[in-house]
Amino acid sequence: MDDFYREFILDHYKRPRNFGTLENPDVTHEEDNPLCGDRIRIDLCLNEDRVADVRFTGEGCAISTAAASILTEKIKGAPLERVKAFSMEEMLEALGVPLSPIRLKCGLLALKVLKTGLYGLKHWPGEEE
Ligand code: ZN
Repeated sequence: MDDFYREFILDHYKRPRNFGTLENPDVTHEEDNPLCGDRIRIDLCLNEDRVADVRFTGEGCAISTAAASILTEKIKGAPLERVKAFSMEEMLEALGVPLSPIRLKCGLLALKVLKTGLYGLKHWPGEEE
């Protein structure tokens, strides 16, 4: 792993941004990744068509925690249209590290929680049951 990105991931892992819960969230959703033992919950407060506030909690490996931290930074204050368009490719690009197929689920867990919480996706594309 490239040093810059290793530091970037570790920084988000050690000092996760927007960590915690919201008092009266409009959306709260939690998912886990049994392969790794990661568990991420995301709380959202919506203001019309924007993400007014976002927090996440949970326990996970460095990748899943960093991904959640990075994702909350990206969507805080963003229009829902932007959130809806946030793709798996974009999430992986934001992480900036190559991930093995197993680690891919770590890197995409937070995005899965977000999308499922907001849109109730029954099926997460790219994931075989
Ligand atoms: Zn993990």
